[in-house]
Amino acid sequence: MTVPHHFLLTPGPLTLSDEVRAQMQYDVGSRDACFKTITAQVRNIIVDLVDGRDAYSVIPMQGGGSYGIEAALASFVAPSDRPLVCINGIYGERMLKMLQLRGVHVVSMTAPCDEPLSTSKIAEYLRRNPAVTHLCFVHCETTTGVINPLRPIVELAKKHGVRTIIDAMSSFGAVEISAKQVQFDVLVTSSNKCIEGPPGVSFVIASLEMLNSRVKHMNSFVLDVRDQWNSFEKSGEWRSTPPTHVIQACAKALERLTIEGVFRRGERYRSVRDAIIGATAPYASPLLNAKIRSPVCLALTAPNVIRTQKDLDALYAHLVDYNLYIYTKLHSQTRSFRIGCMGRIDLMWIRLLEIAFQDFFDANRGVRKYLSASKNRSVEKVL
Ligand SMILES: *Cc1c(COP(=O)(O)O)cnc(C)c1O
Repeated sequence: MTVPHHFLLTPGPLTLSDEVRAQMQYDVGSRDACFKTITAQVRNIIVDLVDGRDAYSVIPMQGGGSYGIEAALASFVAPSDRPLVCINGIYGERMLKMLQLRGVHVVSMTAPCDEPLSTSKIAEYLRRNPAVTHLCFVHCETTTGVINPLRPIVELAKKHGVRTIIDAMSSFGAVEISAKQVQFDVLVTSSNKCIEGPPGVSFVIASLEMLNSRVKHMNSFVLDVRDQWNSFEKSGEWRSTPPTHVIQACAKALERLTIEGVFRRGERYRSVRDAIIGATAPYASPLLNAKIRSPVCLALTAPNVIRTQKDLDALYAHLVDYNLYIYTKLHSQTRSFRIGCMGRIDLMWIRLLEIAFQDFFDANRGVRKYLSASKNRSVEKVL
């Protein structure tokens, strides 16, 4: 079955540039010199993007973002450690669950989903609980798009001699992160968010100090970040079959990110986000106040119309008629739904979104009827 490209307004996977997509048509050998060079390129560009040369190393891991997070937790948190997970959304919850599944004695503190984590509350917790060894949190909680204060939290952890493991899945590439300014221990991102690559690989960015520390607790082969790192350092090779096509596309995507720059990419997403706010304004409003909104995705509420998952299912199905794809799940706590601002979004899609919202919320079915009657015609013709 072949499908036309969806107009993706999801916070990953996202619309690729033609250039990046084109890289996936080349078959190369996974242990060949050519692929080793591409892998090294990918690792070097990411180290440079975080200003981490000489102090950090990037270890690509097979699998999506969650695989990278679980690998980092499995490799850098021992069962005897006492990690604290600070939670204000589903990805924070996921880190907690991963540690619990590993039998680690983990503690957590939970903040409201529509507020950033409070540095003063974390400070108080660390003061009262000197046994805490690691602090785990999400930089940009994609649940609502709230951005957490990276630098103050990392500085606080450092002051207490606590290691930091950060989920920067949806911030890396669009929000500037400099290891010179923010001396995190481990930060994880993935190929299919603001790097604008295809899904399939995650990147663990770890300090050389963490990588060089000896551990006895490792009980997994595939999740072993140090072992993968040793393999890259010794032979330039992945331990087991890598996603060769995805890595080639990532190399191109990272080249493009370097040219555009993280700041400008953030600005581009911000303008998409603000255009979405404008396009949906009469019917839906942003969950978060402007100060704490990240540029990467937007959580909207429409309290009179979108109350349940069923309501969102109806809106989703309606938008699909326009070839528009938003995130499918309602966040039940805040009754918000998400629209992604990342990837190669054409501003015409936002205009289309405006029309689709008008049609849905005003129950003026004219355009919709026309579209359903002409499914095979391209959406552009309607515009
Ligand atoms: C997308 C995302 C993840 C999970 O990534 P998967 O590739 O779906 O496993 C984790 N954390 C955050 C903050 C994310 O945005």
